Amino acid sequence: MLQQTTVVAVVPYFERFLARFPNVKELAQAEESEVLKLWEGLGYYSRARNIYKAARIVVAQFDGVFPSTVTELQQLPGIGRYTAGAIVSFAFDERAPIVEANTLRLYARLLGYDGDPRSTEGQRLLWEFAEVVLPQSQPGRFNQALMELGASVCSPKSPQCETCPVSGFCRAFRDQTQSTIPRLAKRAEITAVIEASVAVRKKDAYLLRRRNAGERWAGLWDFVRFELTPAESITQIIDAVRDQTGLKIDLGPQIAELKHAVTRYRITLKCFTAETVSGTLHKHEEWEWVPAHRFGEFPLSVTGRKFAKLLAADNG
Ligand code: SF4
Repeated sequence: MLQQTTVVAVVPYFERFLARFPNVKELAQAEESEVLKLWEGLGYYSRARNIYKAARIVVAQFDGVFPSTVTELQQLPGIGRYTAGAIVSFAFDERAPIVEANTLRLYARLLGYDGDPRSTEGQRLLWEFAEVVLPQSQPGRFNQALMELGASVCSPKSPQCETCPVSGFCRAFRDQTQSTIPRLAKRAEITAVIEASVAVRKKDAYLLRRRNAGERWAGLWDFVRFELTPAESITQIIDAVRDQTGLKIDLGPQIAELKHAVTRYRITLKCFTAETVSGTLHKHEEWEWVPAHRFGEFPLSVTGRKFAKLLAADNG
């Protein structure tokens, strides 16, 4: 949960998650949609899908006992070299190196490495360094201490070199190159996207679709949703709903415009309501007709939830 997310944001989710899934068996036996529901709002849903898949593998292949070696851990979805090293050294005090954002910056500065730390050469050098400096005794505490040093003292913009306990070994400090090391990653260009979300209604229920594997927010439910071209028109929206669902609709008004960001996309989401006129739902998708008072039972994306709340308020 803590990957890409602050502790403050995680705490309530973590507590709810552990209350519902106190051990790996309970998690492995759950439905994926329930796991996603408890994750709703935390973002990066691949983490939820991965922890669920990992729990099933731990139960099926490791007899319910969490693996304790870097090699075994890396067989679990969502666990790469850094996470495996962190788990093994923090939880089992095994000697396993780690390089993550904070230690990457710290090690690059200590070494005075001005190449790209994300390149193959940079990664090899930093992982070798992490291995070499790791002590035999208490490697877990050592790794945590260096992560903390990177986060609190050797910060990206204003490292506190005057009070840093390792300044005597730091090449960047000696050469006064802290501001240019580590070399920054190229920023991905931001792309503006316009999408439509259409709450298609039949009697008192709205159409929800479970998002497929490989789609953004896979496994979560959403209203009918698609990208709009700049020359959007009512006909384009009606046609897109028919293509996605098989239903002919009578398009109602736009009731909201939501803005949100996903990775390098800035999305403007136009939310419409619509009434079903005719047609049969495509069989290859998973659909549910859901009255507004039951929206809470389904895991939705953040914007899906906002739209659902507007509809629920409208339905009184
Ligand atoms: S001396 Fe400065 S740049 Fe070097 S490790 Fe310490 S805080 Fe970072």
